[in-house]
Amino acid sequence: MSLGKAMIHARKQKSIVKAAIHAGDHAHVHPHHILQMPVLVLNASYEPINICGARRALVLVLKGIARTEEEHGLVLHAQRSRIPMPSVIRLLEYRRIPHQTRALSRKNILLRDRNTCQYCGILFSPGELTLDHVVPRSRGGNSTWENLVACCHACNRRKGNRMMSEIEDMMLLREPRPFSLHTSRQIMRMLGRGDDRWRKYLFY
Ligand SMILES: [Zn+2]
Repeated sequence: MSLGKAMIHARKQKSIVKAAIHAGDHAHVHPHHILQMPVLVLNASYEPINICGARRALVLVLKGIARTEEEHGLVLHAQRSRIPMPSVIRLLEYRRIPHQTRALSRKNILLRDRNTCQYCGILFSPGELTLDHVVPRSRGGNSTWENLVACCHACNRRKGNRMMSEIEDMMLLREPRPFSLHTSRQIMRMLGRGDDRWRKYLFY
């Protein structure tokens, strides 16, 4: 099986990835989380342009679209190959980045909200979060950047069908906004603050 196929196969068979990742001193990190770890994406010009999950980053590297600039320290074992898990990757061809909002998706909303429930402020793994309509759908709320937030199941149940104006014991951490390049940059800087491998590309 080629590495590319192994990755695609791995996407369907998480257990294979579990078996393949040797976490070393990161053994406390669940393998599934390792593949979701954020990877900084640089343009060919070294300008930071995005954050993606480690799984996506590995696919870009294996397809020859990007190369690993900084390694994470973990190694993926696939057949006879060892692939260092990337922390920072760089696209080999320069891409013009449109200054438009990203696609509205569960993944992007969780990224915007940094996997943090926007009501209780607790950090969760993506699987433990749901999307909450601030104005409930049953009351005419739409699925938009401004009306969807990351929310834990407990807060989601507690809020129920109520409007914010009807709730005294819950508050939104911040007003939900579209995910712009500006938001991306803020998140990149925030995530990269404590990481030397990211910092040199983010602060100059
Ligand atoms: Zn919550």
